[in-house]
Amino acid sequence: MKFPSKLFINGDYHDSSSSRHTTLTNPATEQAITEVASAHVTDVGIAVESAHRAWESSWRDLPPGKRTEILFTVARVLKENVEQIAQLEMQNIGKPITDARDEAALGARVFEYYAGAITKFCGQTIPVARGGFDFTLRQPMGVVAAIAPWNFPFPIACWKTAPALAAGNCVVLKPASLSPLTALLLGELAHNAGLPPGVLQVLPGWGSAMGDALVTHPLVRKVSFTGSTTVGSQIMQLAARDLKRVSLELGGKSPNIIFADADWQKAAETSPMSVFSNTGQDCCARSRVFVERSIYEPFVEKFVAATEKLVIGSPNRPETQLGPMVSANQRATVEEFLDDARKHGSRIACGGGRPAAPGWGYYLEPTVLLDVNKADRCWREEIFGPVAVITPFDDETQMLRDVNASPYGLSGSLWTNDLRRALRVARAVESGVLSINSHSSVHVEAPFGGFKQSGIGRDLGMTAMEGYTELKNVYVAE
Ligand code: NAD
Repeated sequence: MKFPSKLFINGDYHDSSSSRHTTLTNPATEQAITEVASAHVTDVGIAVESAHRAWESSWRDLPPGKRTEILFTVARVLKENVEQIAQLEMQNIGKPITDARDEAALGARVFEYYAGAITKFCGQTIPVARGGFDFTLRQPMGVVAAIAPWNFPFPIACWKTAPALAAGNCVVLKPASLSPLTALLLGELAHNAGLPPGVLQVLPGWGSAMGDALVTHPLVRKVSFTGSTTVGSQIMQLAARDLKRVSLELGGKSPNIIFADADWQKAAETSPMSVFSNTGQDCCARSRVFVERSIYEPFVEKFVAATEKLVIGSPNRPETQLGPMVSANQRATVEEFLDDARKHGSRIACGGGRPAAPGWGYYLEPTVLLDVNKADRCWREEIFGPVAVITPFDDETQMLRDVNASPYGLSGSLWTNDLRRALRVARAVESGVLSINSHSSVHVEAPFGGFKQSGIGRDLGMTAMEGYTELKNVYVAE
């Protein structure tokens, strides 16, 4: 298999200005698969400045119909290359192939959605008191820096890039150092589909080495970041210096609330994958499960039984549901959480260790913790691994206090057949995304993002288009 290994700038692959490389390891085999050049601050300058030139000289002023046509072609080319994208993602981060194919197809759909959105994204006419004619324009910002994490590298690269381009901006995309391959391929495929050189630049490398240069570059007008709350906060501080626009999609510790009147059997059978999918490396993981006490024991029994049936194994088997974790470090971090849980007397209902087979790869069993104290780390912090905590509740008001006691507020589910309760609780949960009798968080057409320390701004839907434009009001005297 051919791996992209250089920076993608101005429609072609280039060496880095430094000799630094990142060695990528397949997490399922622990074998090195390739080396990818790491961008240097000099490359940041080159990429941003030429993106700005591409914006000023062509992309900004392209008629909407032309931009639509190019982005529809990008979507088609991505669809034609779903298998290649999926294979790269699987080898790079150990994502199960079925999920990798779904996510590659999702990326193509995101481009399709925003290609269609271009001609439906309008300003307003406003009847101002003094008469005359008043209208608003949604104008592109210029160069957008898009910074993506390693857990959903391809779809998140697409859901930042596509609306930013659709709104008339140029993009410098920085994938996570662990997962640059599909972002680089996105740059190449989009260029092959007709995106002019410079409109989408892709800079692999370490955030610590060149992230600051990208975020603080004077020609970068907006930073769209997905990643940890700690780095998101640093980026916001850097961006504050010259008041750059930021949107931040950050961590989560989402609740899954099950009332006794719900179809709780269905909830128990489906909930394990709402936290263990992507081996728990999911910002929307519903890792705090609140169950009404009258059904707590049978619910836990069913949840554990469903967890024990999950198929863990090689990512290249279509039936695999859980692959390895992304790295030895990430697994070690999660194991520290499990040690902490043991030390504090939590009960491990299943999992808790490394699976016996295959004997290599960064695998970790999906783990269910009971009797966790609400002051413990496993209850309070984002674990970002396959660990669920289940707790009983007696009273709706107290349960909601516990749900909202988290600094995070990204996603969540609630299960009940009582309509009034569903609406009351949905309103009360402090999160940007919530599903009732379901575990879905992401719809291309709907806004996605968090309350509180889970972020600022929204990806996806028409809301994302708004976030990649400046709003101008124009008044014409009569
Ligand atoms: P991370 O914060 O370590 O890195 C994210 C990106 O930021 C990477 O590209 C990294 O190289 C870059 N970066 C790091 N330091 C930087 C700096 N100083 N300047 C600029 N860029 C810098 O996060 P991660 O470990 O890749 O991803 C996991 C985290 O992302 C989890 O907390 C998860 O919840 C969160 N996440 C959130 C969402 C969401 O939509 N809310 C989605 C996926 C992941």
